[in-house]
Amino acid sequence: MNGQNDRTEGLSLKSHLDKAVKVLSQAEVPDASIDAWYLLSYVTGYSRAGYLLHENDEMSERQAEQFHKLVDQRADRIPLQYLTGEQEFMGLSFTVNDSVLIPRQDTESLVEYALPYTKGKKVLDVCTGSGCIAISIAMLGEPEQVDALDLSEAALQTAKGNAEHLGASVNFFRSDLLEQVKDKYDVIVSNPPYIPPTVIQGLMPEVKEHEPLMALDGGDDGLVFYRRLAQEAKKYLLPEGMLFMEIGCEQGKQVKALFEEAGFGKVQVLPDLTGKDRVVWVCG
Ligand code: GLN
Repeated sequence: MNGQNDRTEGLSLKSHLDKAVKVLSQAEVPDASIDAWYLLSYVTGYSRAGYLLHENDEMSERQAEQFHKLVDQRADRIPLQYLTGEQEFMGLSFTVNDSVLIPRQDTESLVEYALPYTKGKKVLDVCTGSGCIAISIAMLGEPEQVDALDLSEAALQTAKGNAEHLGASVNFFRSDLLEQVKDKYDVIVSNPPYIPPTVIQGLMPEVKEHEPLMALDGGDDGLVFYRRLAQEAKKYLLPEGMLFMEIGCEQGKQVKALFEEAGFGKVQVLPDLTGKDRVVWVCG
């Protein structure tokens, strides 16, 4: 991947951008031109319009060095969001790093389904990662209280940082699933790890080599965390409490069955924006 960028002094922004697109295309990065543009914008601070006004300007040596370092990292298939350090979710900007899953649009469906039920309520987010679900609910759902847990200390630090910079009030604590939970909640939300290891092997390098395995790996059949939640969640739900969980699009039937077998009365599988099964909604 390296070695293609050694002669870059004196080149225009446009030439640097063209070079970057070439490097990323050769590395088979999906959306090479878009990612090259985002990295250029990140380094120079230019919007698209600003860039068009200055595309023939020379890039400073310092910026060129930073830019091509990032391009090489992207060519090594490090996700764009880990390089720029941010991802938007529910219209809010989250800081991300390789200790947390990059928030996905699919997960916005989970938040959208839960939001109508959080006003004045006590909410718990299980496996909070970057904190994207808990923080969105704290900021958009007018809850009385939001608690959020994760097993990973590094994830909790990232989530705390996000809550702080967005001004959200969330209490974070470390717990292996529900083990350390003391309270009872009206709404429990979770996007637990749900991908079977055999499937992880076939995912894009960005995901399988760079996102935290512990946030992806749902055990042999991908259902380990749903099984545990089905057994343990009841103790932590207030009367009329409910549970919203993200699922893999082929897991609807099995997850629904797990919760029905555990004695939950009303279990529904709900779609995401593309019509795929994405959320299981359980009422206690
Ligand atoms: N809740 C976080 C998210 O949706 C992390 C999920 C996870 O670690 N599996 O991004």
